Amino acid sequence: MPGERILVVEDEPRIAAVLERYLRADGYQVERAGDGRRALELWRAAAPDLVLLDLMLPGMDGIAVAERIRSTSDVPIIMLTAKVEEGDRLAGLALGADDYVSKPFSPREVVARVRAVLRRAAGNVRSARQHLVGRLRLDLDAFEAYCGDVRLDLSPTQLRILAALASRAGVALRRSELMEGQIDGFSDERTVDAHVKNLRRRLGPCASQLETVRGVGYRLRP
Ligand code: CA
Repeated sequence: MPGERILVVEDEPRIAAVLERYLRADGYQVERAGDGRRALELWRAAAPDLVLLDLMLPGMDGIAVAERIRSTSDVPIIMLTAKVEEGDRLAGLALGADDYVSKPFSPREVVARVRAVLRRAAGNVRSARQHLVGRLRLDLDAFEAYCGDVRLDLSPTQLRILAALASRAGVALRRSELMEGQIDGFSDERTVDAHVKNLRRRLGPCASQLETVRGVGYRLRP
């Protein structure tokens, strides 16, 4: 998509400039960092859609940067490296790099990889934001839920609980698991029960899919 933001982390200015030029020509916005520390600063400040990350950097190397990013984010990372040793490739992929380009590379190839990885990432996000469980359908981008063709009138909290159950349909989730990630932070398990009770009332004919699992919690039946 045009306007997507790419963070280029590369200490060789000539290579960084060439990458920036090609990426901009393809419609991307570009931020550049010449070392790992700056990369992490920009990553926090600019919230890029993808990181092009050189492996060999002065100070903190690319592996360390990738580790730091991965500890809190699934942002796509493409590693750039002059090294072609299998060990480095595996280390990068094990850290969660989405792709790998060896130097010397053609900038055109890098841009093509960027496009491919972003397309793939968009697909993943999309599927994680849509759930179809039995007759229940959730569209978390639109913040809507349906039972069959009927749109359900749910509060944001109810929708989040339903989304958590739908993301692991058929599995019984503990109340504590339903409490996690709730921005209003439920204070105790009884609050969860109260929310689920209200949620069930709003599910219409789909209410029977929401089951209480004695001694555990709740489950959404496919
Ligand atoms: Ca380098």
